[in-house]
Amino acid sequence: MRSAILSLATLSLLAGAGAGCVPEDGIEQKIEGRDDLSLRVYHTRIVNGLSDEVVIEVPEEVADNVKSVLIEVRGSSGLYYMTKFVTPSGDVVEGARYLTRFAREIPGLVDWLYPNTPTLSIEAGTYKLLLRGEKPGGRRLANEEVEIRLYTKQKQSYDTCGLHLDFLVDRQAINNAQIEAAIDRAVIWVNNLYSQVGVRILDYQITKIALPRTRFEVQTESVKSDIDDVLAQARAANTARTDAVHVVVVRQIGGSDPAGYAMGLPGPFDADRANAAVLVSTDAYTDRDNFLDVEGLASTVAHEVGHFMGLYHTSEANGQNHDPLPDTPECSGIGCSSDFEKNIMSSGGGAQRTKITPDQAFVIQHHPLCEPKEFRDGPAACTTSCNAPAVCSIVNQVEQCREACDPDAPTCGSGTCRPDDRGTYVCR
Ligand SMILES: [Zn+2]
Repeated sequence: MRSAILSLATLSLLAGAGAGCVPEDGIEQKIEGRDDLSLRVYHTRIVNGLSDEVVIEVPEEVADNVKSVLIEVRGSSGLYYMTKFVTPSGDVVEGARYLTRFAREIPGLVDWLYPNTPTLSIEAGTYKLLLRGEKPGGRRLANEEVEIRLYTKQKQSYDTCGLHLDFLVDRQAINNAQIEAAIDRAVIWVNNLYSQVGVRILDYQITKIALPRTRFEVQTESVKSDIDDVLAQARAANTARTDAVHVVVVRQIGGSDPAGYAMGLPGPFDADRANAAVLVSTDAYTDRDNFLDVEGLASTVAHEVGHFMGLYHTSEANGQNHDPLPDTPECSGIGCSSDFEKNIMSSGGGAQRTKITPDQAFVIQHHPLCEPKEFRDGPAACTTSCNAPAVCSIVNQVEQCREACDPDAPTCGSGTCRPDDRGTYVCR
C-alpha cells in the first residue's frame, strides 16, 4: 500500500510520502485576517480508482487546540468519495456519522468537515483516509492528480461566530427596484434565526450580475462553468470576498429542489471553485402578481447556507436517512411533528422554518467560514426620546432619531428605507 503521511504538527511531509507530492506540500500557511485558521496543501494521485492511503498524524498538543478540520479535494473531472476514514480510536466514520455519505460531489470537487456532530471530536493519534475516484458515469478514474487542502480551525474560549454573505443577484432574477429592500429584510430574517444559537450575519453586500441563462440546471456540467464565471467576475470586481458565503440569486433552478441548491455540502473555504456558492431562486417565491415572499426566500437562504456549512436535512424525504445530530427532530415520512416542520433544515420549504438546534449550531461553528466572534449582549437599547414620526435608531452603533418607515411602502423624505442595527426600519 502506498501511503502519503500528512502531519498537522510539523511543517514538512514525513518520510514515506506517496508519489505525486511536490516539495511545497505540507507547509503551514496563515490566512490573512484569521488568526484561528491555518492551511496545509498536499497533492496525491488517484490511480485505478484509488488514492494513496492518506495518513494524518495529530499529536496531543495539536489535538488539544484544534476545533475542526475542513478537507477540500480538487482535481480535474473525477467524482471523489471517501472510501475509508478511520479515527485514532478506530471509528470508521463513513456510514456511521455521515461525514461523507451525503457530501456533495461535483466533477473535480468535494469537501468534508470533521467533526460534523457533537458526538465526534478531534483526538490525538493517527487518522487514515482513502479516496476513491470515479468518472462521471461510474467507471474508475484511471489516473488523476488531486490537491487536498486541510484547513484547521483553532479552539477559542467561546463558540459564537459570524458569517459574511455576498449576494450576487442576476439582473433577470428580480425587479431591480425590489431587490435591495428584499435582501435587507431577508438578512434580518436569517440573522434572527441563526442568532438563536450564537451565529450571526456579520455583514453582507449585494452585487448585480448578468448570468448567461435565467434557469440553472444544477445537475448538468454547465452549472460548474457558469458558477466559475460568476465567481471569477465577482472576484475581479472585489464583490465576492474570499471569506464570505456567496449567495447567487437566480430566476429559476432546475432539478428536484427548485427553491435553492447548495453547490457544496459542506462548501469550501476557498472562493476560487465552482462549489463555492449556494443558489436561491426568486421564481419559487414569486406569485402571479409578481409579489415576492421575502420570508420564504430568506428561509431558503438560511437553509442553503446551512447546507453549505455542513448541515444535512434533518430527515430525507424517504423517511429513512436522518442527519447525525442527536437533538434534531426526525420524521419517518408521514405525520411529521410541528417541531420537525419548523426546523430550518427540513426540506419542505417555507418560512415556518424558524428553529435551529444547538447541535446544528455546533456544525456551523466548526466550519472555517464562520469567523469566531464574541458577541456582547445584543445591540444596546435605544434610549434617546424622539418626536414621532421619528424613532430612536442605531446605525453603525450610533444612536440617533430617524424617520420611521414601512419597507413595503417607503415614503422617505430623504434617504432610503432600510433597517437599523436592531432591525427597525428607518429612513437613512
Ligand atoms: Zn436542502
